[in-house]
Amino acid sequence: MVIHTIRGIDQQNLDALQDALKAVSYPREDYHILVTPSGLKTVPDQWKKFVSEAFVCDSDIQLASTQYRAKKRLIDLGDGLAFGKAGLTLMMAGPCSVESEEQIEQTAQLLLKLGIRILRAGSFKPRTSPYNFQGLGLEGLKLLARMREKYGFRIITEVRDASQVEEVIEYADIIQIGSKSMFDHGILQKCSKTSKPVMLKRGFGATVQEFVQMSEFMLSGGNENIILCERGIRTFETKSRFTLDLCGVAYLKKYTNLPIVLDPSHAMGHAYGVPDLAKACLAMGVDGLLIEVHPNPEVALSDASQQLDHAAFTSLYRELSAMSNALNIKLI
Ligand code: PEP
Ligand code: MN
Repeated sequence: MVIHTIRGIDQQNLDALQDALKAVSYPREDYHILVTPSGLKTVPDQWKKFVSEAFVCDSDIQLASTQYRAKKRLIDLGDGLAFGKAGLTLMMAGPCSVESEEQIEQTAQLLLKLGIRILRAGSFKPRTSPYNFQGLGLEGLKLLARMREKYGFRIITEVRDASQVEEVIEYADIIQIGSKSMFDHGILQKCSKTSKPVMLKRGFGATVQEFVQMSEFMLSGGNENIILCERGIRTFETKSRFTLDLCGVAYLKKYTNLPIVLDPSHAMGHAYGVPDLAKACLAMGVDGLLIEVHPNPEVALSDASQQLDHAAFTSLYRELSAMSNALNIKLI
């Protein structure tokens, strides 16, 4: 159950209420939001005087649930860029990894030409082999920040472990938690204590319930700016790298209040399928798309097989723009 306390509740009564209901809580302006285990369905009589509103939720998807808040949460990045706004889909594009100034500058020029405002690239890469490129680290974050200063992009980049959260907060506009880190409580805890938007990618072996529950760790810690990203799950199928779970996305759209991003690049794992998937994703009506694009995918230092080259991305973006007009969606 999600509980809004009365305004101006004093610390002693708050502590007592929280203890009695076994709740976690975070402060708002002059009241607190408490979340109890979802098994609790009514506020015991003796505590009602401290409660202004209570919302019963079926499962531990609570703060993210439409049973708590029917309206989608809005995450405003300024300049007309917002996640969670009806009829608006934000494109996030860029290479898998920042590799050099030249590479990221070339990407910036492509995005500028197309009018795309959110640049993505990883600098702390959680690789599946210790012997491959691990990312440029802080140097890469600085290169991304330079693109933001020069061209006004919003930057989304990944945090690989809890010790980097502050650095990423400093240089990025959106923190990305990768699929392999979805259950990393150190990262989740740190990200709950900032108001910087966080995009949580679904673990490739996680159910939708587990996925949203991990977002609840950040929401219940006080960060209300959480975005969910479906990027494919592991199934018995091996022809694609993962399987994009659009059924799961339909569930998230209906039952949660969080903005949703779809990432066809990591799901497919092969560039040839990304354009078709991206169109299906746009047609579903989501808050954002994440697509990997590289000036020369063949020599990319990570995810080489799935990144689109500039020509393929340009023609995809033009097709998506035409589709978005027909669908009455604004794509930027
Ligand atoms: C990425 O976005 O480059 C990435 C590593 O994604 P994922 O965590 O979904 O594998
Ligand atoms: Mn990648």
